[in-house]
Amino acid sequence: MTVYLVGAGPGDPGLLTVRGAAVLGNAEVVVYDRLVHPSLLDHAPADAERVYAGKSPGAAEMSQDEINALLVEGGRAAKTVVRLKGGDPFVFGRGGEEAEALAGAGVPFEVVPGITSAIGAPAYAGIPVTHRGASTHFTVVTGHEDPAKGPADVDWGALAKAGGTLVILMGAGRAGEIAARLMDGGLAPGTPVAAVRNGTRPDQQTVRATLATIADAGVQAPAAIVVGDVAALDLSWFESRPLFGRSVVVTRAREQASGLRQRLEALGAEVIELPSIAIEPLDFELPPLDRYAWLAFTSANGVTAFLERGLAPAGLDARALAGVRIAAIGPGTAAALAENALRADLVPERFVAESLLEAFPAPTREGERVLLARAERARDVLAAGLAARGYEVDVLGVYRTVAAAPDPALLDRVRRGEVDALTFTSSSTVTNFCDLLGDVPEPQPLVASIGPVTSRTAKERGLRVDIEATEHTIDGLVDALGSALTSPGR
Ligand code: SAH
Repeated sequence: MTVYLVGAGPGDPGLLTVRGAAVLGNAEVVVYDRLVHPSLLDHAPADAERVYAGKSPGAAEMSQDEINALLVEGGRAAKTVVRLKGGDPFVFGRGGEEAEALAGAGVPFEVVPGITSAIGAPAYAGIPVTHRGASTHFTVVTGHEDPAKGPADVDWGALAKAGGTLVILMGAGRAGEIAARLMDGGLAPGTPVAAVRNGTRPDQQTVRATLATIADAGVQAPAAIVVGDVAALDLSWFESRPLFGRSVVVTRAREQASGLRQRLEALGAEVIELPSIAIEPLDFELPPLDRYAWLAFTSANGVTAFLERGLAPAGLDARALAGVRIAAIGPGTAAALAENALRADLVPERFVAESLLEAFPAPTREGERVLLARAERARDVLAAGLAARGYEVDVLGVYRTVAAAPDPALLDRVRRGEVDALTFTSSSTVTNFCDLLGDVPEPQPLVASIGPVTSRTAKERGLRVDIEATEHTIDGLVDALGSALTSPGR
């Protein structure tokens, strides 16, 4: 089968190409590098073999020969192999050597180009590598010269005379030396320089200097160093987003986290997923639906579990609910219904159980029945309140929340106080997160809660609640957090 040499882009996982995602989706083996964003591996099937070929301090490192041999062996074993490399595979990626090894062994291969950091990192720093009137061409050059490899073959003097934009990769450690050689070659000491470190990532940093000052600017790897007039352009956009440089912890269950993640990332935040709970749908007996006047849901999870574990196995679909009115606690729940072609008849103004209770009309006759599909254990406000109003209430536990086991390294980061905010979208996320965390770090990161019930649980667990969403939805939570983190003094 085929070996695909795929460019992963410079860091932002959104910069993988559509073609790259498609071939990853069919991979049986993925061989990936250190600078590849871990979430890109999620494109590969769960049972694909994942082989780390990168260099990290302390870890055994694969030599290029070993990597080549591994790719050839995978290809010969008729496997679909993806070799996932940072940036573009053919720009200082040693992709050429891998292709040569594959071609030499007669193993079919394809190349999926990626966005190279030489262009992508400057772009995210607001620096166009060519610019009308400022630069007609750009040169990408390695700044890394390994003494073991014999005499250097980069002619800095010639590059200094070439004009245009120079983009230096692998040059962070030698920035001063390189600048000196370029000045020796005739470039003015005042020539603008910008070093973009960790380009396209949440921790991107752009250092601006000149050839004369770059040596003292403390450039650190990995960086793309841009030399030339364009480096003075500051069309900053990525680093100017409102939550850029802020790290926000999402404690929701993994399956539910994406909406919150996307909204926070759109504002520029670094999102750290530490799911403290997992949702476990339960097996349950579907009661005869014609008994009920109302079917009430208090979460999107309840909707999904009810439909997937209740209706579907009984061979039923939305039509089975034709005679039942449907109540939803808030827009997230209503949206989960809408995805299944069901429209909620009742959504209260405020998205808490008390409001749902208030919004419920009185029963039209004695003993009218409500089926409440919800978590196995939950607050009793709604069930008790509806019963007090004259309804017969049947509580149906359709799912359960269980403690999750998130990445211990990320949890340690919270313990060290290296995050700006924690978000909680339910009491169970608070309880389980506090159990996982142990002591609350000092000073406490900002705590943002979706609503009063969640806030109360947080306070009971000794957290200071800084932010409570006015509208008890994910959007409301993001709005409240966004204004708190961007308010002066934060
Ligand atoms: N094939 C890669 C380059 C690999 S060489 C590409 O096309 O981007 C590794 C060098 O790339 C690093 O030393 C650094 O100079 C640069 N680099 C990789 N990722 C980067 C990033 N996110 N920001 C800035 N430079 C990066």
